[in-house]
Amino acid sequence: MLNQPNQTSSHLMNTYARLPVSFSHGEGAYLFDADGNRYFDALTGLAVCGLGHAHPRVTQALAEQAGRLLHTSNLYEIPRQAELAARLTALSGMDRAFFGNSGAEANEAAIKIARLLGHQREINVPAIIVMDDAFHGRTMGTLTATGSRKVQAGFEPLLAGFVRAPYNDVAAIQTIADNNTEVVAVFLEPILGEAGIVIPDPGYLAALRRICDEHQWLLMLDEVQSGNGRTGRYFAYQHADILPDVVTTAKGLGNGVPIGVCLARGIAADVLQPGNHGSTFGGNPLACAAATAVLDSLEEDNLIDRAAELGNRLLDGFRAALAGDNRVADIRGKGLMLGIELEVSCASLVAKALDEGLLINVTQDRIIRLLPPLILSDAEADDLVARVSELVLNLE
Ligand SMILES: *Cc1c(COP(=O)(O)O)cnc(C)c1O
Repeated sequence: MLNQPNQTSSHLMNTYARLPVSFSHGEGAYLFDADGNRYFDALTGLAVCGLGHAHPRVTQALAEQAGRLLHTSNLYEIPRQAELAARLTALSGMDRAFFGNSGAEANEAAIKIARLLGHQREINVPAIIVMDDAFHGRTMGTLTATGSRKVQAGFEPLLAGFVRAPYNDVAAIQTIADNNTEVVAVFLEPILGEAGIVIPDPGYLAALRRICDEHQWLLMLDEVQSGNGRTGRYFAYQHADILPDVVTTAKGLGNGVPIGVCLARGIAADVLQPGNHGSTFGGNPLACAAATAVLDSLEEDNLIDRAAELGNRLLDGFRAALAGDNRVADIRGKGLMLGIELEVSCASLVAKALDEGLLINVTQDRIIRLLPPLILSDAEADDLVARVSELVLNLE
């Protein structure tokens, strides 16, 4: 069933261990290769195509915008960008937005806001608390913030100004607060994505909010993966009834068109001034048209509630189907961020699934990560449960 790419990739830098398949088109939850084989996409390009592939509203918005205007530059007013900022600030409880083109760029903006605010407060070496096992991106700033030696190794010197703490450990943050006067912000994912869909204790974000308030630190959340309705709220922090000072997102925002955003409120929203930061492409009319179409679809088709409902259906389904397998250590999720953690290595399942026309991901060698689209039917969700469970039960 696998079609070997007919071109070698020898002119590409060897940055990816690619699977031997390519796709010619997609529709909804499915991708098709050039031979017409169909693949159930339970990964959506890593939480990017939340509306599925070739979503008519996104396609139409892009075609219309492409026929009129792609790009002008942030030297000029961009009404589509300002309108999108208004939509996103209303959805998030933030005041202002800065647009870039990726998750890493959104996070760089957050890091720069924290540092600039620190200097305004005459902290000479402002520090940002970041977490073990975090993933924030591949630029020098964001890979320094990332809590993985694999991402950092060989790229030293890393940046100064980061303090590391264990995730989901309030006491550790309190200890840093008692001993470090240079801290300006705490930066974390409300659910760890790359680390295997790790969901912190229910009171965790509220406790961090309290500590941040006591010390005038910014609470900055990386929702590059967890944002845009995937967890059953627009942002995952909305499950915890708190407001961060800064939140970043990217992946699902453009349904495949590159766009990232750093949203901020209060003092954090006014830190960056002309000359401090910028982006050539960030928030151009094409990317904003895509994101606007995504927001329209989420709203009109009620897809955020649907993500919560589908998530529960999938969790219940997996728990029932895998109840008898004692190699299954944990089945967890929030909306359509799902992890099935095994006691044993299951990295081989990715190729096995691909052979059967199913796209899944394994992270940390033992955790199956599913990030399916928000547009699944009940039957498609049940099919996903059946197919993934079958793979797990037959794992050798
Ligand atoms: C993917 C991801 C990033 C990096 O996004 P890019 O668009 O690849 O730069 C940052 N943070 C989290 C939580 C992510 O999942």
